[in-house]
Amino acid sequence: MIPHPYSEDSMKDLNQARISKEDRGYLFRYPIETSSESDYWNLSELPARHLRALLDLLSPTWKGEKVRIDGYRSLGEPDLVHPLFPDETREFGRSGNRLELYEPRLTYVQKLIQSLLSIIQFEYKNERIQIDGFHLKNPAQWLRPGGGAADILAQAATRCNLKCRFCYNLGSPPALKTTPRKAKEEFQEILTRIAYYVPGSKMGLFPNAGSPCEMLAHPYILEILSALRRKTGEVLRIATNGSQLTPEIIRALAQYHPLLVDVSLNSSSSTRRRWLMKDSHPEVALSAPAALQSAHIPYSVVIVPWPFPSVEEMVKDLTRTVAYSARFNPVYIQISLPGYSQWFSKEALFDREEVWNRLKAEILRLRTVTDCPLIIRPGLFEEYLDPEAVDAPRLIGVIKNSPAAGAGLVKGDRLIAINGLPIKNRTQARSLLGMIQDSPMQEASITVDRPGGPIELTLDLKKFDYPFNPRIAPFAGCVFPSSGIPLNWSEQLRNMVLFKQVREVLILTSTLVKPILEKRIRENFFPTEVKLHMRVPPNRYLGGNIFMGDLLVVEDFINAVKEYLKEGLGSPDLIVIPSSPFHMSGWGRDLTGRVYKDIERSTGIPVGLIECDPIFD
Ligand code: SF4
Repeated sequence: MIPHPYSEDSMKDLNQARISKEDRGYLFRYPIETSSESDYWNLSELPARHLRALLDLLSPTWKGEKVRIDGYRSLGEPDLVHPLFPDETREFGRSGNRLELYEPRLTYVQKLIQSLLSIIQFEYKNERIQIDGFHLKNPAQWLRPGGGAADILAQAATRCNLKCRFCYNLGSPPALKTTPRKAKEEFQEILTRIAYYVPGSKMGLFPNAGSPCEMLAHPYILEILSALRRKTGEVLRIATNGSQLTPEIIRALAQYHPLLVDVSLNSSSSTRRRWLMKDSHPEVALSAPAALQSAHIPYSVVIVPWPFPSVEEMVKDLTRTVAYSARFNPVYIQISLPGYSQWFSKEALFDREEVWNRLKAEILRLRTVTDCPLIIRPGLFEEYLDPEAVDAPRLIGVIKNSPAAGAGLVKGDRLIAINGLPIKNRTQARSLLGMIQDSPMQEASITVDRPGGPIELTLDLKKFDYPFNPRIAPFAGCVFPSSGIPLNWSEQLRNMVLFKQVREVLILTSTLVKPILEKRIRENFFPTEVKLHMRVPPNRYLGGNIFMGDLLVVEDFINAVKEYLKEGLGSPDLIVIPSSPFHMSGWGRDLTGRVYKDIERSTGIPVGLIECDPIFD
């Protein structure tokens, strides 16, 4: 018998839990620090410190246009200019505060109260009163559109029962470290979040989750799923290491359709899984694919190939694990290419380039012998060196029993028309397929280019079976290597350059995006008098062998600008950065909670962001 961590209540009657008025009763509490010297604000510096804090939350405008300010004059002393960002404040530190990442207005409130406590004493009935914190009076005021049920479920992923050799949590930056609290307290907070959640608009309380652990290890997870399911009909996506997926738990999960379970199997060998994940009961996870299939629960298999004890051993195990997983009809198999940060290891562990290229070669080979889509994460790695390929509407697979599979689409097909509309690129193909799938249409025609010549096929959108379900997989079952790079990137860049009338632009991007961005710039009209320079900042903050643009932080960008200036090529009048490293909460913060505006404060050069989503798909 495998011990499981669930509370007895949850196993007896999952439907007993009801969201009562009390379930809204969790208090969202925040401390006020008053002891440290550095928190002491004197009266004369109060306006500057408040203004700086406010400018981390908003941009002043005049007649609708952004205005940059770097100082102020007090109405009481109109002759004196107070600089907001004198040299000593230009090198702002990392925040490391999770709240700053997700709801910086609350850190502003904290600072506001702290500053008042520096200069006044609160009283009640003539008696001094001390305070050391506050709580939200009305959490409904703090609702924001977000990731829906997924944001709420992420709050449960605070602990893990395994100890993977590659665990990304060992390499998380401090702001994202997860420390579990008492399970009951976390449960009450989650129930309150569910109570305030507005499913239609996906308005929810700001998240507070760190880097996710194993959500099925939460003692109250079944009650949480039960409460969430009563609140919303959304797909519930459960990421799990598989060690909790006993037949009883799978039976319990089957009550919460629609579901998509991502099972981190990592290896189909019980010996290797035991070694890799310190899983003392590997047979549970290894039985999960068959059991999920029997329970009709759609799932994907996740594999992190770890290049130890040798690259060859890793590749052999990947080959076996893909073959094993594909037997039980997962929706797709995701292969996450391995990496590590400086917090994970100060020593160099493996050559990323060598390992990733070896894995890519093997995955491309496996695609020729596997009928389940094999997705490389990050998908852009598969094709970034061939910018033409990134735009191509080419399939790397189709989901079994999907409308695409029923129509006869196969991997390698290049879509050339949908319902007679010529398809020029991947972005267009994905958006048209998405629209068609979400529409009441019964059928669509699709023309594909194949070695034997173009062929027209018919998608029967209402005909599908397990493992496909339109609620859990987009594009009628077509699978592309990655979402590609949206075409409007270069338009945004051009508009920014023209609108701001700049002459010299420094674009900071990533290794994976640079080739395609260069191609787009070549193809799009840019005024010849504008000089565009492109640089790839190294991921020095995360370190290790990380090289993803989405994981760059403000400090990395500042260092890259300084290094560029040292090259002596001149001083740009605009820095342009894709916005994805600052995507986490919609407040322009990087992984450390630091606002992107610090780049312009530190370098003195204005920064423009190209709006884009993270590319890890
Ligand atoms: S299952 Fe996930 S959270 Fe747990 S040890 Fe492995 S990688 Fe870390």
